[in-house]
Amino acid sequence: MKNPPLSGIEISTEKEDLICYSFDASNAEATMPQAVAWPRNAEEVVKIIKYASENAFSVVPRGAGTGMAGASVPAGTNCIVLSFEKMRKILDIDTKNMTVTVEPGIVNGKLQKELEYLGYFYPPDPASLSVCTIGGNVATNAGGPRAVKYGVTRDYVMGIEAALPDGSMIHTGGRTYKKAVGYDLKNLLIGSEGTLALSTRIRLKMLPLPEDIMTLLVLFKNIEASGTAVSKIISSKIIPRTMEFMDRLAIEAIENYKPTGLPTDVEAILLVELDGYPATIKKEAERIVDICNTLGGEAIVAEDDMARERLWEARRSISPALYHIKPSKINEDIVVPRDKIPTILMDLRRLSEESGISIISFGHAGDGNIHVNVMVDKNNKEEYAKGMEIVKRIFEITLKLGGSISGEHGIGITKAPYIGMEIKEKELGLMKGIKGIFDPKGIMNPGKIFG
Ligand SMILES: Cc1cc2nc3c(=O)[nH]c(=O)nc-3n(C[C@H](O)[C@H](O)[C@H](O)COP(=O)(O)OP(=O)(O)OC[C@H]3O[C@@H](n4cnc5c(N)ncnc54)[C@H](O)[C@@H]3O)c2cc1C
Repeated sequence: MKNPPLSGIEISTEKEDLICYSFDASNAEATMPQAVAWPRNAEEVVKIIKYASENAFSVVPRGAGTGMAGASVPAGTNCIVLSFEKMRKILDIDTKNMTVTVEPGIVNGKLQKELEYLGYFYPPDPASLSVCTIGGNVATNAGGPRAVKYGVTRDYVMGIEAALPDGSMIHTGGRTYKKAVGYDLKNLLIGSEGTLALSTRIRLKMLPLPEDIMTLLVLFKNIEASGTAVSKIISSKIIPRTMEFMDRLAIEAIENYKPTGLPTDVEAILLVELDGYPATIKKEAERIVDICNTLGGEAIVAEDDMARERLWEARRSISPALYHIKPSKINEDIVVPRDKIPTILMDLRRLSEESGISIISFGHAGDGNIHVNVMVDKNNKEEYAKGMEIVKRIFEITLKLGGSISGEHGIGITKAPYIGMEIKEKELGLMKGIKGIFDPKGIMNPGKIFG
């Protein structure tokens, strides 16, 4: 690895680093990389990928490693992890055109803060925003609570500069809001999980901050009613900016981990947030309260910013809280059409009761995206195998309801064995063909998406 072409680039082959960079937030089994590299600019990225290509190494791009599908962990041998942590600058904020250009390693939450300070915002807000990077968000097409109103990462990416596996650079998208010239390579890179190219510069849209925000916590004694409330609110032509769901077990997990005062004697909670002009959101809130009351829900309005932040802190602490229940879990992020939310919630409850295995659900109910956590211990082989059977059953039910096996976490390595349940042979063949054109030597993030 101490080869002249890479001299001057920060690279480690120390065991401590190799171990740290062979994990992400999933429980995916990974192999150890041969080296970890931290390029500081696009030129260094190009040198690394060229070196890898010429010396039979594969490259695993990595943002912050918060991925839930093992997409940034090494799979196979002879691999260099390329971490974008040190490419984290905001390069340009163009208020005339409402765009911001960044290096891929910038942390989402840091970008949010910088833009908010100037009166703008970047809507995609994964619950991991305090750590995850924009490069990782683009590669997974990340969503977040605000996706229900504002859409996902794809809706905000205007252009991507990227290094191809042969070391050449491409520039996709552009500076304009509209473009109708040729195939849309930018959209091909979004959600490609680092299997096609390495993003080195990303241009994003930004929006003006809304005038006002109102946050409602709605408590339900009946889980199905909470799901019905979600589809009724949407069908009453109100689009809140978030509509997050937590079931009783998720609430209990939070309260045992970091008590925030959420009631534990309810079956489900919806965290609904509205934004816009004060008079409009007041009216929308009244309508939402009416709908929820009719379904037996009790709504509480967050009094001030502190109360609001406390609720979001609780919501964002669910994932770590669950690890206090079991050392491991199987985490899936199915998505169903919104009118099927009550059905899937009841199906999950039934599966849990039948199997005797706890299934904890929470997530972005407003866009039908439920994070399903099958609480099994990986070290207990029998229990784990039972958990995996439940996962397959959940995928079957989801697909039958017209849903998808991943709303935002992607396929990575953990869901690679299941992609064929959703994507048919013809379409899979086209996808593999595209991969082959970008990456004929197969050195970009091997083992991901297609297994
Ligand atoms: C507590 C918690 C909450 C979460 N909440 C959400 C949520 O609300 N919504 C959501 O969508 N996800 C969520 N996630 C999952 C995760 O945060 C997202 O998938 C995120 O986009 C990953 O970003 P990252 O920087 O950590 O990327 P990593 O995990 O490091 O990598 C993810 C993928 O991006 C690729 N990649 C990274 N940088 C580049 C680059 N520059 N060029 C090419 N490929 C690259 C990697 O190879 C990999 O395939 C959550 C995770 C946790 C732990």
